[in-house]
Amino acid sequence: MPSNRTSVISPQKHPHVSSSELLAFLAGKRFLLDELPFPPELIQSHYEHGYLSYQEGIVRTEHGYQCMRCGNRQVHLFASFMCARCGKMCTYCRQCIAMGRVSECTPLVISAFPIESTVYEQPLVWNGALSKGQRQAAEAVTRAIENNEEWLVWAVCGAGKTEVLFPGINRALELGKRVCIATPRTDVVLELAPRLQQAFPSVPVIALYGGSEDRSKQAPLVIATTHQLLRFYRAFDTMIIDEVDAFPYSVEPMLQYATEQARRETASLIYLTATPHQSWQQEIKRGRRKAITIPARYHGYPLPIPSFEWCGNWRKKVKRGTLPANVYAWIRKRIQTGKQAFLFVPHIELLQRVVSILKPFDHRIEGVHAEDDERKEKVRAFRKGEIPLLVTTTILERGVTVPNIDVAVLGAEDDIFTEGALVQIAGRVGRSAHYPNGDIRFFHYGKTRAMVQARRQIIRMNKEATERGLLKSP
Ligand SMILES: [Zn+2]
Ligand SMILES: [Zn+2]
Repeated sequence: MPSNRTSVISPQKHPHVSSSELLAFLAGKRFLLDELPFPPELIQSHYEHGYLSYQEGIVRTEHGYQCMRCGNRQVHLFASFMCARCGKMCTYCRQCIAMGRVSECTPLVISAFPIESTVYEQPLVWNGALSKGQRQAAEAVTRAIENNEEWLVWAVCGAGKTEVLFPGINRALELGKRVCIATPRTDVVLELAPRLQQAFPSVPVIALYGGSEDRSKQAPLVIATTHQLLRFYRAFDTMIIDEVDAFPYSVEPMLQYATEQARRETASLIYLTATPHQSWQQEIKRGRRKAITIPARYHGYPLPIPSFEWCGNWRKKVKRGTLPANVYAWIRKRIQTGKQAFLFVPHIELLQRVVSILKPFDHRIEGVHAEDDERKEKVRAFRKGEIPLLVTTTILERGVTVPNIDVAVLGAEDDIFTEGALVQIAGRVGRSAHYPNGDIRFFHYGKTRAMVQARRQIIRMNKEATERGLLKSP
C-alpha cells in the first residue's frame, strides 16, 4: 500500500500515457480499486509512474470517520466487519454501500491528469425564442459560466427554465468547458436528455441514472441524477443543479459533497429553483447570494393566486366518511362544468379514504400516490380527460403539467405542505397560454405561516413581473 495516498503526485510527461486505456477509463471519475477492470500489475505500474493516485476511502476525524466518496460523517452510517483484505476489524460506509463498499483499507483511484476537453464552435442549434424574462436570466447564466461564478436562477413554475440554460451551455462548450446538469429525479433526466441532444446535435450527450446504459461513457455534456455525481471527480467546469430545493433534507449534505467533488475547484455553479428555501431567500434579500429571478411565466400572464378557505375539522369528517360541505361544493362544481382538477391531500391513508368517499359521486375519480404502480397510467388517463378529478399526495406537486385544470388542497395546514410545496402546487394552474387562469384553493383548519408565505411569494413575483414589464398588457 502506498504511504502517501491522499496526495496527487505530479506525473512526468510520457508518450504512452495519452493512449492508456486505464487512464481513459479513470478520466474525471473516481473508482474503488476493486472496481477497475484491469490487471493489478498494470494499475501498480501506472501508480509507480505517477499517472494515477490513491485516496483513502475512509479517513479518521476528530469525532469518528468520514467517507471520502460520499462525504458521510454520521456515526450511525458506519459499520465494522472482519475484513479479509486487511485482516482486522475494518470500518466501512453504509451511506454509499449501493455503489460498492468503501472501507478503511479500500483506496479510491483517480487519474493524475486533468480530464481532456473539446472546443465546439457555435454548437447550439435551436430556433425557439426566449421571453424577455428568460433572456435576462440566460444572460446572467452565460456571464456566470464565463466567469466561473455561483448563481441562483429563481424561476416561477412555468417560466421555462430549461431553455434559459441553452445560451450558457453553448458558451461553455465554445470555451471547452465540460457541463453537468444534475437533478433529483430520473424522469427529468429522461426528459431533458433528448431535448439537449436536439439543441446540441454535434455534442455527445449522456444521461446517467440508476441502471442507465451510458454509465461507462464520457461526454462533454452530462445529465445525471444526483447519486450518479458520486462517481465523478474533478470532471466538470460548469455544474448546473436543477430543483435544488427538491432534495430531501437528509440527502442534502451528500448532494453538496458530491457537487464539490464532481466539479473542478474553479467551476461555475448554477442553481435552478422555483421555490428556494427560506434561508436562501434571506441571503438573496441581503445581497449575500447572487441570484436572478424570472418572475413571469413564459406566456406572460400572471400567476394565479391561491385563495384560503376554512373547512373546519376535516379529518374528523373524513373519518366519518364525509367531506366538509365547501370542499364537496368545490368538487361538485368542477365535475358539473367538466373542468378537470387535482385535489391534494397530506397522506396516503387519507388519500384512500377520500377516494372512497368520492367514488359514489363519480366512479371515474381516481387517487395517485408515490408507491402507486399505476401512477403513470393514471396521469396519462387524466391527461386524456378520462379522469375528471385526481386525488393526489404531494407526488404530483412538480413535473406534471396539464393545460387547463383547477387545484385544491385539503388540509393545507398540514406540515407536509411547506411554503415551497404550496407554491409548486399552485404552480400547476394556468400553465397554458390558452388557459392562463384557474382556481387554486387552500382548504384549511387553521392558517399556517407556510400558507401565508406561499401566497405572499406568488403575489411578490407578479408584482416584480409587472414592474419589470414582463407581463402581457391586459
Ligand atoms: Zn460513503
Ligand atoms: Zn480492511
